[in-house]
Amino acid sequence: MRAFSYERAASPAEAAARAAKVPGAKFIAGGTNLLDLMKHEIETPLHLIDVRGTGLNAITATEEGGLRVGAMVSNSTLAADPRVREAYGVLSRALVAGASGQLRNKATTGGNLLQRTRCPYFYDTAMPCNKRSPGAGCAALGKGATTRQLGVIGTSDACIATHPSDMAVALQALDARVETVTPEGETRSLTLDAFYQLPGDTPEVENTLTKGEMITGVVLPAPMEGRHAYFKLRDRSSYAFALVSVALIHAPDGTGRVALGGMAPRPWRRDAADAALPQGAAAVMAELLDGARPTEENAYKLTLAERTLAALLAEE
Ligand SMILES: Cc1cc2nc3c(=O)[nH]c(=O)nc-3n(C[C@H](O)[C@H](O)[C@H](O)COP(=O)(O)OP(=O)(O)OC[C@H]3O[C@@H](n4cnc5c(N)ncnc54)[C@H](O)[C@@H]3O)c2cc1C
Ligand code: SF4
Repeated sequence: MRAFSYERAASPAEAAARAAKVPGAKFIAGGTNLLDLMKHEIETPLHLIDVRGTGLNAITATEEGGLRVGAMVSNSTLAADPRVREAYGVLSRALVAGASGQLRNKATTGGNLLQRTRCPYFYDTAMPCNKRSPGAGCAALGKGATTRQLGVIGTSDACIATHPSDMAVALQALDARVETVTPEGETRSLTLDAFYQLPGDTPEVENTLTKGEMITGVVLPAPMEGRHAYFKLRDRSSYAFALVSVALIHAPDGTGRVALGGMAPRPWRRDAADAALPQGAAAVMAELLDGARPTEENAYKLTLAERTLAALLAEE
């Protein structure tokens, strides 16, 4: 690991202002992803700003009937909150499907949104990777590459990695927004579509945060009536990232929302697919996966996603 300096910030505004000012600075929250990447020297920040003391540990009701989740709320606390369990079951279920109990105790809401891909070539510093070293090439697109875990839609000729977060898939289904503070002290509220950026020619740029901008929380809108489900398929029955995951909110009148994990560089949802829910899983996936570009090794994900949604719908 490269040497770095360290400080603690006492408020989000202070953290953002310092991050913009100090060269090579990066925020650290639970550290469960960033420290791993630093040990592999995939991330080499010169300075860490610890944001755990910024007072963002609360889950509070909003005037609109939803919940505001502070960026430092741990994944365990969020999953166990009685309001979340009762009215946002898809989120609670997605959170407990992620990582392990110990990791969820440390992992934060802000850090979970910004965790990096688990593409095996991103972690293997002997292999070319455009996300790790812009312009180096993509080992996953090379002949004979192992791509069974990688993305089928929203990918590009520069990168076919997936976003690994389970929590973000549920947040996408819930129409959650990400709140931030800029180094100038301004606040922003972004949909997940506006927050995450598709790889295109610049897979190293994964989101639309500006330099020094810090996530302060996530806002859940008023709960949507209906059944909430999250089903995750993976190589082991626990402690593994999703090959495919499906978040479903299904209202009694047959309408609802569907988001997918393990398929794309960000949690994947389309309005046209939600509109097709009353017609069943095949109709939803025809819209959701239109334009997919699977490899020979990961084309199975298209069938698996449709069958998973069909199984969830059949449970009712
Ligand atoms: C073995 C293992 C298995 C895992 N399995 C799963 C899984 O199945 N599903 C899943 O979803 N996740 C899984 N995870 C990932 C885990 O959920 C993430 O590591 C964790 O959520 C990251 O949160 P953190 O607070 O530790 O972030 P950190 O590691 O502290 O930070 C991650 C990134 O976010 C940035 N950051 C942190 N907070 C903020 C903020 N407020 N504003 C702006 N930037 C910020 C940091 O600068 C860094 O770039 C696993 C992790 C491990 C190690
Ligand atoms: S798919 Fe993306 S993360 Fe994986 S090797 Fe290619 S550029 Fe890197």
